[in-house]
Amino acid sequence: MTETIPQSIAVSEADSPAGAHAAEPAGGLLVFAPLRLEASAVRRGFTQAGSRVERTGMGVTRARKTAGQKSARESHLGSFGGLVVMGTAAGLTADLHPGDLVVAAEVSDGETSITLPGADLLAAGLRRAGLNARAGQIRTVGKLVRPAQRAELAAQGFLAADMETSALLAALASSGRPVAVIRAVSDSGFGPGMVSGGLAALRSLRAAAPVAEKWAAACQERTVLLAGPRSFCAGVERAIEIVERALELRGAPVYVRKQIVHNTRVVADLEQRGAVFVDELDEVPDGATVVFSAHGVSPAVRTDASDRSLSVIDATCPLVSKVHAEARRFAREGYTVALIGHAGHEEVEGTLGEAPDSTVLVQTAEDVARLSVPDPAKVAYLMQTTLAIDEAADVSGALREKFPQMRAPGSDDICYATTNRQAAVRAVAVDAELVLVAGSKNSSNSVRLVERSEREGTPAHLIDGAADIDLSWLAGVSVVGLTAGASAPPAVVSEIITALSGLGTVTVTERVTTTESVQFGLPREVRRS
Ligand code: SF4
Repeated sequence: MTETIPQSIAVSEADSPAGAHAAEPAGGLLVFAPLRLEASAVRRGFTQAGSRVERTGMGVTRARKTAGQKSARESHLGSFGGLVVMGTAAGLTADLHPGDLVVAAEVSDGETSITLPGADLLAAGLRRAGLNARAGQIRTVGKLVRPAQRAELAAQGFLAADMETSALLAALASSGRPVAVIRAVSDSGFGPGMVSGGLAALRSLRAAAPVAEKWAAACQERTVLLAGPRSFCAGVERAIEIVERALELRGAPVYVRKQIVHNTRVVADLEQRGAVFVDELDEVPDGATVVFSAHGVSPAVRTDASDRSLSVIDATCPLVSKVHAEARRFAREGYTVALIGHAGHEEVEGTLGEAPDSTVLVQTAEDVARLSVPDPAKVAYLMQTTLAIDEAADVSGALREKFPQMRAPGSDDICYATTNRQAAVRAVAVDAELVLVAGSKNSSNSVRLVERSEREGTPAHLIDGAADIDLSWLAGVSVVGLTAGASAPPAVVSEIITALSGLGTVTVTERVTTTESVQFGLPREVRRS
């Protein structure tokens, strides 16, 4: 049987963050520690006056009895926001050393398993404090573990074994409070003796106490305002599918020039399946298959690939190709092309490469003021597809003022996905106290979502996943806006909501500003007959 503590994700139909529910304010930290030495180590690490530690006694029976009595006295727990079980444990795997910390993602007594969804978040907080910590499964056993039993439990996926956690969690579940478990490895069975291992574990428990306090301060009920649309756009879905199909049809390795899309998760996943990401074509063996990324390439790269007899599959987003075609057309007609974009971005480099002698990059209104062209009557502008709409408008406005006859692209260069995600993040940022944007640092459209939120006056953070959330961001925050850049997988959004639910009940309200139905066809090289 598997249970989850807390069972706490609700989906609200009502789009009203203020009315979704009254968020219970965060309380203090209450730690349950089995032994006197453990309790004392934790107490000495506290930095906040309101934090408390209770001793529960050693072993399943005593732990169950003591925790049951304490959690039954609701007045006793009343002012506490988060409950943390802290103590030492036996490490079960060879890569765990005395003093390392295991944060329970799941606790089992062999019959019942309890899942704790916020474990990654807490483990990441401990790592940020300089501790060796990881999230994983903990097994509660009746007696000290013997060497043969360690190997058996490790083979079942457990990282650590203790004698109380399962019983404590069962007793604390009725409190309805967020619960976490931090166990410090005292005896790995692979390294030094009991005494030095025990001391290392106690030092780690003391150092972990301030992080547990931060975790407790972040515990409260909250609303997640989910921006829609969010996550993958049609160009990103197509690019990923191209690599997947190339792997399926041609087998590994399939080389990909640059990151197929700017997301570390997507790249790591495809790498595992046999894609090899390279910076330049000289890293690709002659005759091999190479995929060009969604951001596009310059004609010089295509020529190089052809000279090397590489088998090219082009995953350039059709909306980027459209900008390339416009650059060629304007250059052919004798125009100077002012390309509004960010220096160094792969898409910008590709577009500049289409007509290098006729194209000039302008990033700001100051660049426009400095711009000198052969014929002011023959200027056209283009844009990177993933710019912030309002900022790009400032630069195009400055260009228009300086070159009143300037030609514009046939249709908007900033793509539908960028436009829609920026409108959607704005719609949640206006009512949120904090916005989390799932996306990687090199993802232009994800970075723009952070900036868009900040321009609404709402602090925002770009995160690759739940582990990047700093607990201190969440203290006192009852409404969190959540979105994902066009290159971030939808699964990351679910992972973040699950992690937040480990800090207290989460009510998810989706705010949809528009729906999308854009789809792009695949290149013939990967179409199925
Ligand atoms: S963000 Fe826009 S231009 Fe970029 S891949 Fe997606 S749809 Fe294409």
